[in-house]
Amino acid sequence: MSFASLGLSDELVRAVTERGYTEPTPIQAQAIPVILKGGDLMGGAQTGTGKTAGFTLPLLQRLMEKNVAGKAPIRALVLTPTRELAAQVEESVRLYGKHLPLKSMMMFGGVNINPQIKQLHGRVDILVATPGRLLDHLQQKTVNLSQVEILVLDEADRMLDMGFIRDIKKILAVLPKQRQNLLFSATFSDEIKILADGLLTNPALIEVARRNQANELIEQRVYPVDRERKRELLTHLIKENNWFQVLVFTRTKHGANRLAEQLDKDGIPAMAIHGNKSQAARTRALAEFKTAKLQVLVATDIAARGIDIIELPHVVNFELPNVAEDYVHRIGRTGRAGSEGEASSLVCVDEHKLLRDIERLIKREIPVVNVPGFDVDPRIKAEPILNGSNRGQGQGRGQGQGRSQSAPRSGGGQARAGGAPRTGGAKPAGGAGRGSAPSGAQHRSGGRGR
Ligand code: AMP
Repeated sequence: MSFASLGLSDELVRAVTERGYTEPTPIQAQAIPVILKGGDLMGGAQTGTGKTAGFTLPLLQRLMEKNVAGKAPIRALVLTPTRELAAQVEESVRLYGKHLPLKSMMMFGGVNINPQIKQLHGRVDILVATPGRLLDHLQQKTVNLSQVEILVLDEADRMLDMGFIRDIKKILAVLPKQRQNLLFSATFSDEIKILADGLLTNPALIEVARRNQANELIEQRVYPVDRERKRELLTHLIKENNWFQVLVFTRTKHGANRLAEQLDKDGIPAMAIHGNKSQAARTRALAEFKTAKLQVLVATDIAARGIDIIELPHVVNFELPNVAEDYVHRIGRTGRAGSEGEASSLVCVDEHKLLRDIERLIKREIPVVNVPGFDVDPRIKAEPILNGSNRGQGQGRGQGQGRSQSAPRSGGGQARAGGAPRTGGAKPAGGAGRGSAPSGAQHRSGGRGR
């Protein structure tokens, strides 16, 4: 199938060809014709599936169908949860629209508002914004959304997770009633369904496979390690295997900062990227990481959304995420565009339950690699992970509070033979010291169901 056969104009086909795409991804093949016809859409797709081009290309074409000369009003609005995603979506709009006269703008908080106000005085056809700053502009009456024809909510589940629902509702209230609505979400929770019900009219439902199901190129491994020796093991793995462009996930911002500093001290250039950092610092970190000047980027789940580096070779879970689906998001950053990627998880005794949840979700056991010199101390008991559902925003664990009185969550101590890794530096060994995880899928946690 070709892009042209989906009904895209020559200018758009030229732009994607120049970008090096030969054929549409599944979400593109399904979404583009629907959007070109003007229908509403609910897309179940996460980053990495090609969803950005999937909505950007037909959106540009629809705007071109009645292109307005001169100072055009804002006719398309894309809302994203994070600044990084806003920047990347807007970059895609510019890239795919390079042969068209349309103008785009990105808008997010954490930077001076005045240059944005100035830019809004000029022509802006497509606005890509995070909800908070857009609301600031609406309140100051520095933006006019009364001519919006197409609305896109990108990563809607994340926007809800981040508490943007009220902002979104306020924004929806000022848009014209008659418009095309596109909603993308990696998950379909009840909250998303309620939002979709209020927003979409007879939407086409398009769902594409999660990357982990489709992408067998990601080599996943679990490295058992004691809680206090994770940093040491990470340094060892990076140095021993000469890993470059390593994206490391921590659960908390504080943990991200601390780890980046420690890695730096170990002689591994590292930077943390999260919501508390200034936009300039985040942009710089990303740019240096992309050009491989920076060896390690340490990120929380939210900050990492939308980081799009083609062929990112290594993703490391320094701590497993509290929500199994975030694991899938995280490892979806590697093994892109047909290249191989490695996803390594450093797992301590506290995280056995999280690991079991993940293995249930992905319907497979992740091979275990024991690194010589990092044997797990069986005397160390599981402690509760205290930052519960904070999703990377919490205070870190421990705080010296009491140990868990409950039994170790893994049924601890029953070693299971570690699956042999297919490649890699560290030698495999049996006896990872964690309970055996069922590989069958009794249930899938987290709202995929409708
Ligand atoms: P997205 O899911 O929109 O974040 O896109 C993920 C990655 O896939 C980006 O690096 C895109 O540049 C790339 N991509 C998008 N469409 C295609 C395509 N048709 N062929 C190859 N790569 C693509």
